[in-house]
Amino acid sequence: MSFSLLKELNHPVFKIVSEAAAAEGIDAYVIGGYVRDIILHRTSKDIDIMAVGNAMDLASTVGKKLGSTKVQVFKNFGTAMIRYKDLDIEFVGARKESYVRESRKPEVETGTLEDDQQRRDFTINALAISLNEGNYGELIDPFDGLKDMENSIIRTPLDPDITFSDDPLRMMRAIRFAAQLRFHIEPLTLDSITRNRARMEIVSTERISDELNKIILSSKPSIGFRLLDDTGLLEIVFPELYKLKGVEERRSIRHKDNFLHTIRVLDNIAPNTDDLWLRWATLLHDIAKPLTKRFDPESGWTFHGHNHYGARMVPEIFRRMKLPMNEKMKFVEKLVNLHMRPIVLSQEIVSDSAVRRLLFEAGDDIDDLMTLCEADITSGIKDKVERYLRNFQLVRQKLTEIEEKDRMRNWQPPISGEEIMEVFGIPPCRAVGDIKNAIRDAILDGEIHNDREEAWALMLQTGINLDLKPVPGNELPKPIETENHED
Ligand code: ATP
Repeated sequence: MSFSLLKELNHPVFKIVSEAAAAEGIDAYVIGGYVRDIILHRTSKDIDIMAVGNAMDLASTVGKKLGSTKVQVFKNFGTAMIRYKDLDIEFVGARKESYVRESRKPEVETGTLEDDQQRRDFTINALAISLNEGNYGELIDPFDGLKDMENSIIRTPLDPDITFSDDPLRMMRAIRFAAQLRFHIEPLTLDSITRNRARMEIVSTERISDELNKIILSSKPSIGFRLLDDTGLLEIVFPELYKLKGVEERRSIRHKDNFLHTIRVLDNIAPNTDDLWLRWATLLHDIAKPLTKRFDPESGWTFHGHNHYGARMVPEIFRRMKLPMNEKMKFVEKLVNLHMRPIVLSQEIVSDSAVRRLLFEAGDDIDDLMTLCEADITSGIKDKVERYLRNFQLVRQKLTEIEEKDRMRNWQPPISGEEIMEVFGIPPCRAVGDIKNAIRDAILDGEIHNDREEAWALMLQTGINLDLKPVPGNELPKPIETENHED
């Protein structure tokens, strides 16, 4: 039975490709993710055109018809790309692939439409729409991908053991699509992932991290992480997260399963942020719990300092996973380190100085930190959750009040280290740091105002207490010459 998606091909570019293909005397199809997304009513800006013939020539004819649009040719890959308005259109010739065991890079030869559909990873990704005169708009679906889409199923077109062993990245892709689309992986396909998990060794870290990022960014990431665990991939691709699994009991006291807790927190934060790095901070917030776990007969299970040790693990994890070692990593590190602070605040009577310190340390990341902490509440007891959320409301209110009053977010100390050295005529030394810290603490604790004159008086006093003598003429602060204080 033929099924037409004619009315879905409403973008003028498809007619143009169709005319160009006719002029070249070849067949062309829209194929893969774009077709899948049309049927699932998802918007996609990446169109893959498959040509049974020379894809470069087709791309250049389309480029001319679109008004001399630039065609980027990637000779090595046999592909060409056109950027047209907000669309990325990629042209590739139909191919047949064969694999050798050590590599996920196939031997490629020219193939037919059927060959090309067979080399695709999943039935839902193997659909093609004809752009050819005789059957323009017809869906070509040799593996019942449409039915799988209706039943929300991910299945390989061929024997899954061959599909996954050929290119093991597809195992991660299956799980990523299950998380993104909220589909089920068909049982034989799922079993095959478990069986072939050791094949992950031939996949590059970058590609694994790409897929992990997509799972993390999906609307319910726990689906992906549970599947990674069920198939045994978790231990291979993310051993630190795997170590969070499990519950231990002593003297009838159990601690929670920190893996399940973590992925729940990730689900909780998903509706509130699409920021990949805030989601990474969420994933790693309890990562050092196994390292710091102790049983204390008095207080039960403790994880003292897990925030601090967790922050120290972040650079190593980022390095291994080839994630950026830049300010994104620093942000994750900072949030992991600070993630207990608002919780402690919410349990105590909130003092101004504690809030000021938190604002000072979190700076502009304070809102993200609060979002993480609110997501971290995973108690099953409704009253408890409501009480915690109310407390966080109070912390947020207090943060706003103190920020309005004291402007601590991007606070710079009112006296620089240079000035301290000048006033006491001393070289860089420990005393300079001690004086700076004394001033900072006094301001954060509300003992003096965030004011240069008060800070100056404290500097002189602290220096004298340390047996330093101010150089005469430095009794009062000089006007600030530059805004650029040393930190
Ligand atoms: P997304 O755009 O969300 O990453 P996608 O599947 O739409 O997902 P691509 O990764 O660009 O986008 O892949 C485009 C198409 O190429 C897929 O739909 C699939 O048909 C095919 N494909 C991609 N990767 C593989 C693979 N590793 N093995 C087999 N086919 C693949």
